[in-house]
Amino acid sequence: MPQFDGDRDAVLARAHEAGVETVVAIGSGTGPGSLDCAIQLANRERAGEPRIYATVGIHPHEAKLATDADFDELSTLARNPKVIAWGEIGLDYFYNHSPRQVQRAVFLKQLDLARAVRLPVVIHCRPSADSQNAWDECLAILAEQWAPSGLGGVLHCFTGLMEHARRALDLGFMISFAGNVTFPKAQNIRDAARELPLDRIFIETDSPFLAPIPHRGKRNEPAFVAEVAHQIAELRGLAAEEVAFQTAQNVYRFFNLPPTSNAGTPIPAPSRGAAG
Ligand SMILES: [Zn+2]
Repeated sequence: MPQFDGDRDAVLARAHEAGVETVVAIGSGTGPGSLDCAIQLANRERAGEPRIYATVGIHPHEAKLATDADFDELSTLARNPKVIAWGEIGLDYFYNHSPRQVQRAVFLKQLDLARAVRLPVVIHCRPSADSQNAWDECLAILAEQWAPSGLGGVLHCFTGLMEHARRALDLGFMISFAGNVTFPKAQNIRDAARELPLDRIFIETDSPFLAPIPHRGKRNEPAFVAEVAHQIAELRGLAAEEVAFQTAQNVYRFFNLPPTSNAGTPIPAPSRGAAG
């Protein structure tokens, strides 16, 4: 994202200092024209930074921009060895940046393409206010069109109800929690983060969005994922190190990544400054 153009090196150095071993960089970028952005990051391989893997995909926000040439480009990019998932793809009925029927068509098309290259999918799903419409549609599509592939995926930045999470677990999905698990009004997210099996959850930042408390309102960055680990640890009565270690192992297992040499290293205590 362009929000990091001024200080991407420093951001990645801070992530490494905060104990982030591995980054999955979401390659939706700003849509067609930047579909290789995460692969470029993954190709850095610099000392003192986390190792970086990539996804490719067209976000539902930009679905209306997608052309056949973009789909061809995605299929080519998806064969890059650094690419470990296809996404974010899905449905966003909150912002409706693209017409819903276009979102559905682009979602289904990318499920077909991901199946062809045998990649799991990263799902973005957000219903209209006071509705579960996108969850109902998205989970039905995944059950009918995706579950038979056996490839599974991730419900990223989970904001749904326990029943949605459980249905997704049954379809072979992992559930990923972002900075909004710390927001005062997000009790449904905290309920899911407390109750779901510890071996089926991931933690993420959704940078540059949804900075966790105490950074709320600022640009989010990967180092702040420590706050997500601390929140989930508090909910579950565990040490933050245990949540950090287990969720990292979940990622390595799910995506078949080699473990890192410093796996299990305690993460530093979070900054507990004034709540933003
Ligand atoms: Zn998303």
